[in-house]
Amino acid sequence: MEYTDLRSDTVTKPTPEMREAMAEAEVGDDVYMDDPTVNKLQEKAAAMLGKEDALFVPSGTMGNLLALLVHCQRGDEAIVGDKSHIYINEAGGMSALGGIHPRPLRNQADGTLALEDIRASIQTEDVHHTITRLICIENTQNVCGGIPLTAEYTAQVGKLAKDNGLLFHIDGARIFNAAAALNVDVQDLTAPADSVMFCLSKGLVAPVGSMLVGRGKFVARARHLRKMLGGGMRQVGVLAAAGLISLEKMAGRLGQDHARAKSLFEGLKQVKGLKLDARSASNMVYFDLADHVTLTENQIIEEMRKRGVLVDWAGVRRFRLVTHFWVDDAGVEKAIEGFAEVLK
Ligand SMILES: *Cc1c(COP(=O)(O)O)cnc(C)c1O
Repeated sequence: MEYTDLRSDTVTKPTPEMREAMAEAEVGDDVYMDDPTVNKLQEKAAAMLGKEDALFVPSGTMGNLLALLVHCQRGDEAIVGDKSHIYINEAGGMSALGGIHPRPLRNQADGTLALEDIRASIQTEDVHHTITRLICIENTQNVCGGIPLTAEYTAQVGKLAKDNGLLFHIDGARIFNAAAALNVDVQDLTAPADSVMFCLSKGLVAPVGSMLVGRGKFVARARHLRKMLGGGMRQVGVLAAAGLISLEKMAGRLGQDHARAKSLFEGLKQVKGLKLDARSASNMVYFDLADHVTLTENQIIEEMRKRGVLVDWAGVRRFRLVTHFWVDDAGVEKAIEGFAEVLK
């Protein structure tokens, strides 16, 4: 059976064009910085995000960890959202590997950290306190619904950071989704930040890899730490070749995924038994099961699988569906009809 896979945008397999580019990629030893395809990818990523330099890393998790390690010393404090990927989904790497103390602040319903909460959490100089060093935000904010955070909000966080002598990192795993959803240039969302991580391997469809961007000195230090973590890769131009197509062809088409997420949202709204979250403008649809639904999450997943649709749960009686390059209009229809049938 051909499945419509709505579990995540991480399931995106490379396109035939990507596979061809990968097969033909010019490569070299990237630890010597000799891989022309990686170099090209890094230059292009830096230019697109308006930063001095960029580093190709194996995963978004490593990209975020490197940013934390470069910005913070052991014992420093980093302000993070309590629903952020860095805080809940990166195996505690910041503290386990970096000795960095997380200061989790409540993510608001709109995905932001309240500016007054950030302000109030900045430690004063006192022998009892940690040293606040870094503010991290996530755009789009995944767990809050795939919500894009605006350029205005990002600028406000940037100003707050600057006024208080703090550094500012964006976990922009889906920053191009945010830019598409807000209809702004991605640089409007990245300009205030000292560093940004984004994933090639999600909605941008590449099989592997993320980019970490920032100032030249920051990236040089991140490259050193990447080697320390075992992330120095050799002829990795075979992966970077796919990443270049992500930047050239995929970053500009994410609006299509968002339109399909909207259709999915509108369709599922009509299905009795589903309580949909307010729609975010990006590629995610979240909902809870209504109280009267007696099927378990796993039964629903299995029934949907039988109907050719892969879905995953996102918490107790909660689901997240994600549209991406390999989900077409027919797949959206199949998912809506599937849920209507299963919950009848
Ligand atoms: C996926 C994701 C990451 C990490 O990416 P991996 O490549 O899976 O390590 C970081 N932040 C957010 C918000 C993500 O969704």
